[in-house]
Order: sequence, then structure tokens, then C-alpha cells
Amino acid sequence: MVPHSSPFLLADRLNTLGESQTLAMTVRARALRAQGHPVINLSLGEPDFGTAPHIREAAKQAIDEGNSWYTPVAGTLELRTAIADKLRRENNIDWNAENIIVSTGAKQALANVILALVNPGDEVLIFSPYWLTYHELVKLAGGIPVLLEGPVAKQRKATAAQLAAAISPRARLIIYSSPCNPTGAIFSRAELTQIAEVVARHPHVLIVADEIYEHIRFQPDYFSIASLDFIKEQVITVNGFSKGYAMTGWRVGYLAAARWVVQACNIVQGQVTSGPCAISQKAALAALTGTQAPVLAMREVYRRRRDVLVELLRDIPHLSVDVPVGAFFLLPDISYYLGRRVGGQPLATAQAVCSWLLEEAHVAVVTGEPFGAPTCIRISYATSEENLREALLRMKGAFAGLVNKLQE
Ligand code: PMP
Repeated sequence: MVPHSSPFLLADRLNTLGESQTLAMTVRARALRAQGHPVINLSLGEPDFGTAPHIREAAKQAIDEGNSWYTPVAGTLELRTAIADKLRRENNIDWNAENIIVSTGAKQALANVILALVNPGDEVLIFSPYWLTYHELVKLAGGIPVLLEGPVAKQRKATAAQLAAAISPRARLIIYSSPCNPTGAIFSRAELTQIAEVVARHPHVLIVADEIYEHIRFQPDYFSIASLDFIKEQVITVNGFSKGYAMTGWRVGYLAAARWVVQACNIVQGQVTSGPCAISQKAALAALTGTQAPVLAMREVYRRRRDVLVELLRDIPHLSVDVPVGAFFLLPDISYYLGRRVGGQPLATAQAVCSWLLEEAHVAVVTGEPFGAPTCIRISYATSEENLREALLRMKGAFAGLVNKLQE
């Protein structure tokens, strides 16, 4: 009998998906912990803060008031209206409630767009480094991911000129995040205006602007490409509550776009999940309409951690790192150490460096490979300053040992 785990029982589309390179690391980190080793995890992509009390209260109230029914597929009108207000107020994007669809996380919003708009063989231009899910969703839809590798000297942000050279008649979508996971870079008004000017010449192409880290930024300026009137109809703005409001588990995200895009996403979502959790939508409403003080307080904590981490990383020889202006990641380049030998084995890849760091320093970080940055590791600072200091101390020791060995 064919066992249930046999790949022969899986649909072909699943074979297109890459296996998570971090999975083995997570298993190993857990095993080390079980053996009593104090593993510090700097691999997480979620805030370590709890959700603010007024948001939790709104959810409790929503339960007590009997919000136990399906909501409209696109989300409640009150939440979509509050989102439209937010976009107008904070982002200068002029859309109405009917241009918004609320989803079970920004991840579902992205999945809806890609499944609704990408045909097999279509190209999707992804600014690289990128959040790995973009790439996998495009493959799931049968599309072809085309990576636009941003120049290192420009904080790895892809440029309008690169885009102009890469757009083919098969291109359907362009995807970027700003602030970027994993680099922490933010696209400026000037950069996005140039990009918009390129895309405006290609009306068959849409931009997906993932703004989920918008509130976690350490500079006052923030620019949304959809605020440019001449490109607005070609932009799909994705955002959500997971990061800025520390609400990962509540699963609420959304997108704002031209009506026809929202209708297409509505069709996909209507068959896959229907509207997101009714309680969570009430919580999200409270997040948008209540005090923003917790968002700003978290931002300041992240800023402090970023500063600490940058300082400590500069203390480790031969790591080069850009100072991120948003999100909660750093992407140091570890090229210097690639190919060096440890115990007879070469550290051939960033993945090998991550495994070595886990064994040697009991620190878990993520390899840059699946993010389009194969000479980098991604360090998350969504953890306490105490953890960061201890982890960086251990990393420094591990890398110093490696340098010494190299000199032997
Ligand atoms: N976009 C980016 C860039 C992300 O890093 C994440 C979460 N890791 C998401 C979207 C998805 O967020 P969620 O589904 O929790 O709203």
C-alpha cells in the first residue's frame, strides 16, 4: 500500500513549491532546547509584544454581543469604511469602502491577488530581496517569478531603470514590500514616483505594494505609491494588523484597489474562506479607531533594539550591514565567511552558516537564500534587548573563533 505521506498522492502543483529551508533549523533548535541548551531565537517574523488592552477588550465585547455570524465576504462595512478613512488620513490614498477587501491576514490578500490575476506562464516581477511567500504564491499560480535584484549600494532596493528593462509583454504584477522584509529598507517618494512613471507606460501591469510594516519605521517620511493619482488604478495596496498592532494571531489583513480587482479577489476568497473572523474584525476596528499610543511605543522599542543590534554587529569583524529604517530585521552580508572550513566541513552556504551558528552559539537566525539574498543572514529583533545582547555576544565569539581558525 502507498503510505499517506507518499509524494505520489500529492497534487502536481505542490511539487512546484520549494521546501522550507528553515524547517530543519527549527526542528534542530527545538531538539537543542529539549537537551537543555539555552537557544536564543532571532528568526521570528512576528512582534514579541502582546496586543494592546483596548483591542483585546473590543474583542471580548464582540463575543459578548454575539458576533458569531458570517460577515460579508469582503469584511464588515464598518471595518472597510474605517480602513478607507485610514488610507485617506495616513497614506493619502483616496479609495472608498467598496475598494477594500478584508482577508484572513495580508497573506491571504496576496494569495487572492495572485490567484485571481496570474495565469500559468505569466511573469511576476519581484523586487529582491523579498518576502519568500511572494515567490511561492506565484509558483502556486503557475506564474514565473522574475527577480529584480536591487543594487547593494542602494540598500538593495530595485530601481525604476531595472524595472523598465525587465517588463515584458508577459508581465502581470510587480511586488515589493516597503519597509522591506528582509532588508528593512523603505522606498522614498522619489523612487516610487520613478517606478510609477515606468509602470504607467505598461497598462497591462499592476503593482502590489505590501505596506504591512508601515508603522514600524524609524524615519518620519513614508510614501504610498497609490497616493499618486496617475498610477492609482494600477496599484494594489496590501496592509494588515499583524505587525504594527502586534496582532499576528488575529489574522486580519486587507487590500485596497480598483473595484474590478476587489471583485476578483472577492470571488477567490468567497470560495476559499469567506470573510475573516467576525471577532477579529471588531478588534481590528478598535485598533484603527482607538489610541495609536501603543503603536508608537512599540516603534520606539524597536528603534532602540535596532540601534543596539547595529552597534553590536559592527563589533563582529567582516560582517557588512546596512542600517535598516523599518520592519524588525537586519540582513548582514556574511560573504567573507562563506566557503571557510569548520571541523573539515566548508561553510558553503548561508544555510550552513546558520546551522553552524545554531550548533556553536545556540542562536537561531534565518538564511538569506529563500529571500533572494544568498550571501546574507536575516536577524530578527522582535525579541528583548537582553536576548539580543546575549545572542550577539555568542555570535561574536563564534565568528571570532572562526577568524582565528582561518589564520591557523
Ligand atoms: N507581508 C510581509 C512582508 C510579511 O513579512 C508578512 C508576515 N510575515 C505578511 C505580509 C503577512 O502578514 P499577515 O498574513 O500576518 O497579515
